[in-house]
Amino acid sequence: MAADIGRFTTEPKIAYFSMEIGLKKEIPTYSGGLGVLAGDTIRSAADLRIPMVAVTLVSRKGYFRQDIDEEGNQIEHPVEWDPADHMTLLPEKVRVEIEGRDVQIQAWLYVVESVTGGQVPVLFLDTDVEGNREEGRTITHFLYGGDERYRLKQEVVLGIGGVRMLRELGFQIRKYHMNEGHSSLLTLELLNRFKRDIEEVWDEEHVWDTERVRSMCVFTTHTPVEAGHDKFPYDLVRDVMGEIVPLGFLRKLGGEERLNMTLLALNLSRYVNGVAKRHMEVSRDLFPGYEIHAITNGVHSYTWTCESFKRLYDRYLPGWANEPELFVRVDKIPHEEIWKAHMEAKIRLLEFIKEQTGVVMDPDVLTIGFARRATAYKRANLLFHDVERLVRIGQGRIQVVYAGKAHPKDEPGKGLIKEIHRYMKSLEGKIPIVYLRDYDMDIALRMVSGVDLWLNTPLRPFEASGTSGMKAAHNGVLNFSVLDGWWIEGCIEGYTGWAIGKEPEETIVGEDTSDRDADDLYNKLEKVIIPTYYERREIWIKMMENAIGKNAYYFNSHRMMRRYVTEAYIR
Ligand SMILES: *Cc1c(COP(=O)(O)O)cnc(C)c1O
Repeated sequence: MAADIGRFTTEPKIAYFSMEIGLKKEIPTYSGGLGVLAGDTIRSAADLRIPMVAVTLVSRKGYFRQDIDEEGNQIEHPVEWDPADHMTLLPEKVRVEIEGRDVQIQAWLYVVESVTGGQVPVLFLDTDVEGNREEGRTITHFLYGGDERYRLKQEVVLGIGGVRMLRELGFQIRKYHMNEGHSSLLTLELLNRFKRDIEEVWDEEHVWDTERVRSMCVFTTHTPVEAGHDKFPYDLVRDVMGEIVPLGFLRKLGGEERLNMTLLALNLSRYVNGVAKRHMEVSRDLFPGYEIHAITNGVHSYTWTCESFKRLYDRYLPGWANEPELFVRVDKIPHEEIWKAHMEAKIRLLEFIKEQTGVVMDPDVLTIGFARRATAYKRANLLFHDVERLVRIGQGRIQVVYAGKAHPKDEPGKGLIKEIHRYMKSLEGKIPIVYLRDYDMDIALRMVSGVDLWLNTPLRPFEASGTSGMKAAHNGVLNFSVLDGWWIEGCIEGYTGWAIGKEPEETIVGEDTSDRDADDLYNKLEKVIIPTYYERREIWIKMMENAIGKNAYYFNSHRMMRRYVTEAYIR
């Protein structure tokens, strides 16, 4: 199999770089939305036979396995998995210099294969190889682990090592797509590769062919949250990677004070985009002077549709998985069959909940789902803003399912998990609430298909896109969400779902809108959502149909990839 790499190098490819990639539960090299999006990107590229190769890190210890104790304290364990169970180690080796010493890199090959015959090779870079010193071997162990120095070393391996590995394996690359700034050091490797060979240098910087590099690079920025943009002090940069390009020149590209990976990517990419229309606007404010476009995210339809809906779509919309546009014909499916498929998914989720937590939930009760990274701006606790009011509205009428990991260093995020556990206890006997442990792609699919209502309450404008709501729509689950990210584009009030809080143009960045948002949330839950669910079931099911026909129809990664091809890759 190893020698087989040649079958992928016969035509030029798009190289897709991502620090994390979520291919499946068993390959735990992802932490959340960014990685799952990367996985969906690759799956759609394979289905659509887009010539692509993906590059990431092998993260041998994964992100972490989450346990939660009685009090709601998150306990983190390394994930035990062996890349050899899933992939093939290629014999080729490349080197990068880190802290003045050579670090050797090898790559594991995993091939994403589509039923259409399309294939996308994914290279998982690994420094845990024979001959490396101990510090070198651990660089590709922990996803988002360690300190700043560790992160920078990982980014050297991903960006610089990744480009070298592609060349060593014989790939010809026509575009480099950086999925977030973690991989933007790749631009420096390209600058060196395309250095002008001129005798008379009248201007030191004339040797750098930045235009050529820009013409080869595409950059997608993913978050308006400040901490989401890596910035490294130049002392650290010099210490870890030496002067791969002269530091004076690097400062012009990546920022005077610190090396800002987002800025570096912005300056060296001809095509730059945000992940929803609103996120494009926010990014333009954040980085004035740059031309920033929007390609709104999507999810891989086949991956994010549960078994019972797959059967339904196969029967009424054959071909839907590779042509999600067929969701436009969702009206062909009888309402009672939509409901039946939904109840099947709901019962499966409730069985899983019973298995994991021992809690028995009622399939006839309106079930609300909330699962995402536990971090402050996502406001997992907004539902409990006024607990008495929630009980008055919801007792006997709603039950709630939570899940989500907090980054090991995100103390406020961990605090949110504890807070929800306190409400779980204090509302016992009034509103059943569970918190599922170890949120991953499997639990995500169970939840987005098995609840009735998908809740999202981010603080604006920090939800760049959000994708779990798109997964819900693929399973006829209705969204109830703050108007931010994709939902601004997806929400037709009372038709595809419901909005929480103000219109986006009425909001001021940094304003705490929690009182007003919670008030709106309770009002709609009481006056519209609960009555529709229990008393006007026909309207509810009609809305489920709309979610499929309007939201799943549009917010899928096939549409997204067609747009990357026509707007970014072939330019
Ligand atoms: C889809 C998904 C996410 C992203 O969900 P958001 O709504 O964008 O926060 C995170 N983690 C897992 C496991 C997912 O499947």
